Formats: sequence, structure tokens, C-alpha cells
Amino acid sequence: MRTLAIVLLLALPTVADAQKEAAIKAAAIHSDANWPTALKIWEWAEPGYQEKKSSAALAEVAEKAGFTVKKSVAGIPTAFTAEFGSGKPVIGILGEFDALPELSQEAVPFRKPRDTDNGNGQACGHHLFGVASLTAAIAISEQIKAGKIKGTVRFYMCPAEEGGAAKVFMTRAGLFDDCDTVLHWHPGSRNSAGDATCLARIAVKFRFHGTAAHAAGSPEKGRSALDALLLTMHAVELLREHTPDGTRLHHSITSGGGAANVVPEFAEGFFYVRHPKAETVQKLYPRVLKCAQGAALATETRLEVVYLGGTMEILPNNTLAELAKKNLTALNDLKYDAEEMKFAVRLQESFSEKSSLEDIAKVFDSGGKSSGGSTDVGDVSWVVPVTGFSTSCWVPGTPGHSWQAVACGGTTIGKKGMNLAARTLAATAWDLFADPQLVKDAKAEHTKRLAGKKYTAMLEKDQPPPLDYRTPGKSTRKE
Ligand SMILES: [Zn+2]
Repeated sequence: MRTLAIVLLLALPTVADAQKEAAIKAAAIHSDANWPTALKIWEWAEPGYQEKKSSAALAEVAEKAGFTVKKSVAGIPTAFTAEFGSGKPVIGILGEFDALPELSQEAVPFRKPRDTDNGNGQACGHHLFGVASLTAAIAISEQIKAGKIKGTVRFYMCPAEEGGAAKVFMTRAGLFDDCDTVLHWHPGSRNSAGDATCLARIAVKFRFHGTAAHAAGSPEKGRSALDALLLTMHAVELLREHTPDGTRLHHSITSGGGAANVVPEFAEGFFYVRHPKAETVQKLYPRVLKCAQGAALATETRLEVVYLGGTMEILPNNTLAELAKKNLTALNDLKYDAEEMKFAVRLQESFSEKSSLEDIAKVFDSGGKSSGGSTDVGDVSWVVPVTGFSTSCWVPGTPGHSWQAVACGGTTIGKKGMNLAARTLAATAWDLFADPQLVKDAKAEHTKRLAGKKYTAMLEKDQPPPLDYRTPGKSTRKE
């Protein structure tokens, strides 16, 4: 009889359970109410450091919810922090909102670019990222306001995740120094959580300045900047064979001359150097630089190096990852309705391999794995314990940075994934506010994983944020 009473007592929902439930419900309501904001950010598709309208829209949502908003933080016009409450713990939630070039796409399951000015698309789902994170923070703020939990919730609006790495500059500015833990998430094609990491990365632009001339009439008078860029790329391709396992080198031409009958006076290439360890990336970068220096020498052009900085690999945190995974697993209720199912099946026709659509009902364990990409969340994770997770905002099998991802993000498939992310963030943040031991454990693990290593940003001294990195360079020749 006594045993039965104890069992019954344990099974009964506690006051804390009810409060957590209230925070989760509020996150769902705020997330759905802000779906139009996410759609606007999807439509604007503003590139890194140019997210003016997106930043203003989200700052307004935060201000209306009673948050104290600090704009233009870390010298970045589109970055802001929004805070509610006071004292400890300080729980941070990250948001992003930048789009990618040349991936504009309608919300339809076949390739159809949108008729837009900038040609960009939300191919990494950042329009969902910012809104889910902010609405989760709002749900938590209501619990603080009602006196159910104590502390500070702080939302970070982080621009230019795609190559501009605002979080590195925000970390250098000390914006995370008083945080106890930080949460984030990312749209994906499946739900996953775990103590995953990512690749460290250095980004650089090589600009070559040559001499223009008639390409047929007087080629001997010209010195081709494009030749220098092509030679750099070839040298980097040859270098690839002699790099440590796990190295990733890639590049694109952002400017390469405008007319075939003119020897290009100016050319610019965008290069990434990646590896699982930042210390290896730092050793690889000078070798890539030599490729560009050698190419300039060979082509008698001048090299201009625009070093955009580096991002660290994520320092995982199992304490936080397990917490997020538990909440995501408990809350996952993703299911397609008939229309979404039709969209998903049609979209999958564009994939060579098809994943099961039933995957959305599962939560995959990403523990011990690397995402294969890089993120400036890495830098944050070296100064404060961080965890993130993914929710299925794209049809299973959809690669990130694809038109298919843009398409899904503009439909209710994206909306449902965003809602699940907002609820999971609210639930996980609530646990951290309610149980100080969790924060203590996460911090102890962080210290252990750091193993005495000190974080130093992979930036040049006093390097300013590269606010114009999405604008291709131009010839600076004055003649
Ligand atoms: Zn992303």
C-alpha cells in the first residue's frame, strides 16, 4: 500500500512540471504568432552583415516583449542583444538570420528562383533560427516575470554566420563573458541532438591587381589578375594532396573580369581552409597563402590579402547535450499533413537518394560526430558551455545550402520545425533555470574539456568585422 502511494506520488505532475509545461506552451504560441516575421526574413533574404530589415524586425519583437535591447553591439550594425530579468544564472540563446547568395527559390517543390533583386535564399534556414530562439527567450521571460524562475535570459542576434562570423567578434567583445550557459539550434533535414562538434575554419579573400590591355591587340602589355587567381586555385588543388587527413579546402571566384577581350585588371577569389582542429587550420593557412603569393610572382600582379578570420571547432558539452536531447525527444511531435506529404514526395524527386519521410518522427543521436561544416558558435563554446540541436525543418534528405532547403523553409514544414525548436529551447532553458546543479555540472565539464587551453580568436590584432565581405572587391587602381 505504502509502495503504491509512493509510486502514485512520483507519477503525479509536480508544480515544476506544470510551470515547465507552461513555458513550452508559450514558446509554441509565440513561435506560431511570429511565423509571418520568419516569412518576411525568408523573403528579404538579406546577406551577411546586411540584415538591416531582419534585425529591425526581430529587435521590435523583443522590445514589444519587454526586453532591454542593445543594438549595434561589437561594432556590428545588425547585431543586437535582448535581455530580460536580472542576476544569475544568465542563460544565453543564439539566433541567426543571414541568407546565402544565388539560392533564391520559391516555396515550391521544383526549381523555381524567385523574382527578387538580390537573388539570395534562406538556404540554411536562418529565418527560422532567429525567430525560434527569440520566441523561446520570450516564453522564458514570462516565467521570470511571473516569479516562477529567477535569473536573466539573453537573446543574441548574431549576423553573418555564413562566412562573416559575427559571433567571433561578439565573443572578442566579451558579450558572452557573464553567461553561464548558451543554447542554440539549427534547422536541418532531421531531428538530432548530442555532443557534436564541427570543423574549424579560416576564411580569406585573395585579390589580384594586374594591368588591363586589349586581349588580342596588345596582350604583351597586359598582366592578368584572373591568371593569378587561376594559378592560385591550381596550386591549392596540388597542395590538397599534402595536407593532413580531414582537411577541406574550397574556393569560389567572386570577381574575374568582365569582358573576354580585356586582360582582367582585377580578380578576387574566396577561399576556405578547414580541419577538425583550429591549431591545424592555423598551420595550413600560411601554406595556402604561399599559393597566392607564388601566383602573384609568376603573373607579375599584386596580391592583396583580405583575411576574414577564423572560427574554432565546437567544444562539446555532454551535460547540456543530454538535456537538450531528452527535451527534443519528449517534445517531438512532427507529422506531415496531406499537403506537406505531397510537397515532400514531389521535392524528393529531385534527390538521387531518398530518405524515409518517417524519419521526422525520430530524434537522431549526433553525439561524438562532426557536422562537417563550420560555425562561429565554435568560438562561443570556448568561453561558455554551449549546446545545440537540429529539428527537421526540411524534407528528410534535403542538403543544407540548397534550393530545396530554401523551398521547405517557406512552407509549413519549416514552420513546424521552428515551433519544435522553440519548445525544445524553452524546455531546456527552463531546466537550467530550475536546477542550478545542471549549470554547475555543465561548467565543470567545460573546464575539464578546456584542459587548461586558453581561447584566442583567430583574428588579426584589432581586426574589424568584415562588414562588406559579401560585396565583391573592385579594382583600386587609380589611373
Ligand atoms: Zn546555418
